[in-house]
Amino acid sequence: VVRVLPEVSGLAKEFDYRVPARLADGVDIGTLVRVELHGRRVAAWVTALDVEPPAGVPLRSVTRISSVGPSAEVVDLSRWVAHRWAGRPAAVLRSASPPRAVPSRPPPRPGPGPAVDVDELASRALDGAPVTVVRVGPADDQFRFVATAAARGNALVVCPSVGRARWLAGRLGRAGARVHLQPGAWAGGASGGTVIGARSAVLAPTGPLDAVVVLDEHDESLQEERNPTWHARDVAIERARRAGAPCLLVSPAPSLAGLAAADRVLTVSRSDERRGWAPVEVIDRRDDEPGRTGLFSDRVAEVLRSADRAVAVLNRKGRAAMLACASCGELVRTEDGSRLMVERDGCLVAPETGETRPLVCAVCTGTTLRRLRLGVTRAAEELTHLVGRPVAELTSARGDSGGAAVVLGTEAALHADLAADVVVFLDFDQELHAARYRAAEQAMALLVRASRLVGGRRPGARIVVQTRSPGHRVLRAAVAADPGRMVDEELGLRTGLGFPPARALAEIGGPGSGPFVEPLAGRLDVDVLGPRPDGRYLVRAADPDALADVLAGLERPRERVRVAVDPPRA
Ligand SMILES: [Zn+2]
Repeated sequence: VVRVLPEVSGLAKEFDYRVPARLADGVDIGTLVRVELHGRRVAAWVTALDVEPPAGVPLRSVTRISSVGPSAEVVDLSRWVAHRWAGRPAAVLRSASPPRAVPSRPPPRPGPGPAVDVDELASRALDGAPVTVVRVGPADDQFRFVATAAARGNALVVCPSVGRARWLAGRLGRAGARVHLQPGAWAGGASGGTVIGARSAVLAPTGPLDAVVVLDEHDESLQEERNPTWHARDVAIERARRAGAPCLLVSPAPSLAGLAAADRVLTVSRSDERRGWAPVEVIDRRDDEPGRTGLFSDRVAEVLRSADRAVAVLNRKGRAAMLACASCGELVRTEDGSRLMVERDGCLVAPETGETRPLVCAVCTGTTLRRLRLGVTRAAEELTHLVGRPVAELTSARGDSGGAAVVLGTEAALHADLAADVVVFLDFDQELHAARYRAAEQAMALLVRASRLVGGRRPGARIVVQTRSPGHRVLRAAVAADPGRMVDEELGLRTGLGFPPARALAEIGGPGSGPFVEPLAGRLDVDVLGPRPDGRYLVRAADPDALADVLAGLERPRERVRVAVDPPRA
């Protein structure tokens, strides 16, 4: 008799089934089976063997075995993930299961390690501490960490994209390593060697682990978007801890979450790090002639006129139109300068705090305020006139530069496979001042990506940033090619506001969010903020474990509830 967890949405209960003698040999913890439940045949995972069924209840039999599934170790890890990010175990087990049915698990096959140059820094990082953050330059080749980990035996490598995983796997394979690229080579991982892939690879089968590596641990692609919103970095740390293997978090701009979880931070040499960063030129738009609030400063027009290949970024995702004073050029902010204000019903309002005042600049009392907003399409037209050469428009919806020397697009342009010497951020303030607790880290991640796109500090490479906040910590750190400089200030701000990593945070949305959080009213160990205008709540607790226990103790109401733990965009 086995216990199984059916893959039925909205159901997290487990049930007992009898295993017919003819199937007994193929059943293990994690095995994918078919069972009959409430008159339907459904997929299920075996979660326990040889269970004592409740007395007097007639048991049905497992109908058939569909596939090998995650190992007992990963089934256990998946339960931890489901609890930690307040989701259903079945949703995590689905990510941990093979994309196609696998008839049997391959036997362990120890083989020679790859013929690679073992890197000194990577070796040091893999010895002497359970979790190590390594900060490298954005344009640095992170392959040395992959190769050095592979040389140790069984390694698990997680990176933000499938494309990058494929490229790294190819290089490692050519060096003679046994590589299992996920999710295609799902089953092979159990036989030993290096398992490499995007975020779900963190749940893939492996041999007994000798090293775990997460590349670009700051990258948001490592976080699952649907509930449970687990982050591959945090799962990798837990998996390595359980296996007693060292865990390496590599990034040009380590996240505060990664830094908080690490036992130590290592960095490449100052000169190596600087080489990985393109020079960052900051253009202070407050210096523009009074009344001029166009999107393109003279300097940007000049740069885009002369660059061989340039990308201009204008992100418009989810942004509120910002206002700037026509006299002094400052962004319109609250009295204490901490938040941006918007115009509503003829007044200025700070949406988060409710602070209100007439349409007046707080710095110079000027009363002419201008809206800073221009869409990508119109901006591309304007830029074509300004620089006198064709400008291609590139967004996530339209992804072809058509070979033009100048490309103007949203952030998607930084993800496209373009070659460029210059990246211009036309309106960086909306990144720096976005109403999200991680805005500064996300802005830094864009500068990292831009540096990588232009190839770091090489002749002709450059990042140009237009801003009205030239002294912002993100820009100071990027100009100095030293993201470590913003860490203390950022951590201080987050701690002061009670945001992660100082405290743990979940965002609760959906029509059932009100009834869901209602039982938390009056509790001293939990804060509930909201509802915000969009109906969402934020729930805060001392740390991830405490938050997980709080959320697990709440009943799901009849109406739909969306729970996002560690929400990236709150
Ligand atoms: Zn002013």
